Amino acid sequence: MTVASPASLYSDLDVEWTLDAPLASHTWYGVGGRADVLIRPRSLEALTTLVRRCHRDDIPLRVLGSGANLLVDDDGVDGVVIKLDEPFFQAVEWNVDGRVERLRAFGGASMEKLVQHCARRGVRGLEQMSGIPASVGGAIRMNAGGKFGAIGDAVDAVAILGMDGEIRIFPREAINFGYRTTSLPAGIVVWASFRVTEDDPIACRERVLEIFKYKKSTQPMGAASAGCMFRNPTMPDGTVESAGRLIDLAGVKGTRVGAALVSPRHGNFLAFEPVFTNESGETITAPSRTDDMRQLVEMVQDAVRAKFGVELETEVVFWRRGERP
Ligand SMILES: Cc1cc2nc3c(=O)[nH]c(=O)nc-3n(C[C@H](O)[C@H](O)[C@H](O)COP(=O)(O)OP(=O)(O)OC[C@H]3O[C@@H](n4cnc5c(N)ncnc54)[C@H](O)[C@@H]3O)c2cc1C
Repeated sequence: MTVASPASLYSDLDVEWTLDAPLASHTWYGVGGRADVLIRPRSLEALTTLVRRCHRDDIPLRVLGSGANLLVDDDGVDGVVIKLDEPFFQAVEWNVDGRVERLRAFGGASMEKLVQHCARRGVRGLEQMSGIPASVGGAIRMNAGGKFGAIGDAVDAVAILGMDGEIRIFPREAINFGYRTTSLPAGIVVWASFRVTEDDPIACRERVLEIFKYKKSTQPMGAASAGCMFRNPTMPDGTVESAGRLIDLAGVKGTRVGAALVSPRHGNFLAFEPVFTNESGETITAPSRTDDMRQLVEMVQDAVRAKFGVELETEVVFWRRGERP
């Protein structure tokens, strides 16, 4: 069942809103339908009131970060989609509490800009996030990271706005950061503070660049994708295996459904390639559709299950009309 979003939820608040808002341009995949309403709060008060009202009226509420880990259904989504890209929610505060070694970034701040900014100022602690497209809120929610560490390594505290409209602050010690997961409760990441140290700006910049280059050399970053589609699974013997390696060994690299393709370079990257050459050498143009990507995901899961008896779980978040977020 889809749920309508009456204007009385937001029209008297300090927010920007767009009805029937296309979401494709807000995601790295660049596909998917529309949100019934996309709302951009300008203040914390507007955000908390909106969240309380959605909770009260049982309206589905979703938060959009930079859309780097998201696949929106071709039919779009119902309820309310919030985007924290107004200046208040993009702010970064340095020297929180007068301490050089603590900075605070709001949920809508760009992770890439923050990493660059830290490097320029000679601040170390977040360089492991180099090359990972994200908002601060999306990165915290996913505990984004990779070979050089994850965002959780640098966290000092996180403020979560619960669906009841209350803000709760979780100190680092109260949060378990796991592989692409956290123990934080459901809700909106309003801000996160980080423990950082001062260092030589040149050394900081070099480290950020080194990590970026490594990432670029190992992953097809230019493709319309969301990075890794699947989590690395735990095998029956208890070891964690690379999902990309299993996909490669299952022989499905290069498999395609319409424009959706398992990258021939990195098996865990499922991207759209709308213009391609088929086996007969003809140039084909196919529309990029979430439905094709879903089918491709299932084909990969089936192939890996058949060969290794292991279930691949998606890391990418799927949004679908009528489904509770
Ligand atoms: C080219 C490419 C490379 C990538 N490489 C990596 C990598 O190396 N490592 C890695 O971990 N990831 C990688 N990713 C995936 C992506 O960068 C991360 O998952 C990132 O954390 C997504 O952040 P986002 O702001 O784009 O979140 P979105 O994609 O917008 O949302 C993802 C989830 O976070 C939730 N969310 C967003 N903002 C908030 C908020 N303020 N409060 C609460 N929930 C929120 C959304 O509701 C959704 O459930 C890559 C993606 C791409 C496109």
